[in-house]
Amino acid sequence: MDTHHHHPENDDQYAGLTVNSGVVQPPSVNPYFRPRRRRMPTVAEIVEGILKGDVTMLSRGVTLIESQAPDHYALAQEVIEKCLPYSGKSRRVGITGVPGAGKSTSIDVFGLHVLEKGGKLAVLAIDPSSERTKGSILGDKTRMEKLSQHPNAFIRPSPSAGSLGGVARKTRESIVLCEAAGFDNIFVETVGVGQSETAVHSMVDFFLLIQLAGTGDELQGIKRGIMEMADGIVINKCDGDNVDAARLAQTQFASALRLFPLPESGWRPEVLTYSGYYELGIKEVWDMIDRYFEFARRTGYFDQKRNQQSRYWMYETINERLREAFYGDPAVEEMLADRERLVLNNQQSSFIAARDVLNFYFSK
Ligand code: GDP
Repeated sequence: MDTHHHHPENDDQYAGLTVNSGVVQPPSVNPYFRPRRRRMPTVAEIVEGILKGDVTMLSRGVTLIESQAPDHYALAQEVIEKCLPYSGKSRRVGITGVPGAGKSTSIDVFGLHVLEKGGKLAVLAIDPSSERTKGSILGDKTRMEKLSQHPNAFIRPSPSAGSLGGVARKTRESIVLCEAAGFDNIFVETVGVGQSETAVHSMVDFFLLIQLAGTGDELQGIKRGIMEMADGIVINKCDGDNVDAARLAQTQFASALRLFPLPESGWRPEVLTYSGYYELGIKEVWDMIDRYFEFARRTGYFDQKRNQQSRYWMYETINERLREAFYGDPAVEEMLADRERLVLNNQQSSFIAARDVLNFYFSK
């Protein structure tokens, strides 16, 4: 065939390889066939769906927020902005406790208790460890067996990738979408082991700390900071042989709390015992939370706290975006590697190195 000689890959260099000319393909084997694509809904479609309470669209919106793709960022921000006027009307409750404290068991029953009065409940999570451990501790929907089958519950695992700041920001933004979709109760769950409590605390109205009775020195190992953030402390597993120990822990926590200054809210945190598994004392825990909401609305602290949180998230978002833009810049990355070596070899001071890299970045 003649085409042979014209094709660049048919010269001596490619001996043994022959490129033949092809035949023209028909435009379609079946002219009636239309490929079914999962089209990405537009911002307008997502927003419209969310405002109608469509959970599929809510999920798509949250997925957009969680996406790492750079072009999704702007779309997600558009969705959030359009939902913002319809947000803010929920009760946001943060729930923390070490793994094994009974968070999932408790959220399942707390959730059903809340839904008995009507309304809708969204359960979100912040678990910055989920990227490292692949498969989030808080990710498994089946942990909340009853709630996950409830028609008015929306359970969403933690955003997985990114820094704690990034993960928390995404959860904070997902709250906006859930509220716009009519979810009037939001739970934000986190593992009580580190920094994530601060992040959760900065996006909820009430912060509930789940504790267990231990061996007499319960107060050890609990970071003072976490106790100071709590609006309520509840001792779980107050059942069977554990009742006395749980009551003792209750007394100890209550007296420890009395040593703390009265929180800014003016609300002295209460300590209660309950059993998530046997569903004992659930109403009492929730009555306490109701009392807090009444109190905070009456004193104006509710709005004050939300304003503080808005300001916090403005700066958090700026910080996160600056950090991402800076460290994500390939030229900066290269320069950083270079300067790091100089600093480690005592050839340049850390301050000069930092100044140079920053100057380079900001003059680009
Ligand atoms: P999480 O890691 O904080 O989410 O804790 P889970 O809800 O998964 O509970 C950890 C373990 O404690 C499970 O084996 C539960 O069955 C058990 N558990 C949870 N709540 C209670 C309770 O109220 N009483 C008792 N006895 N066990 C409980």
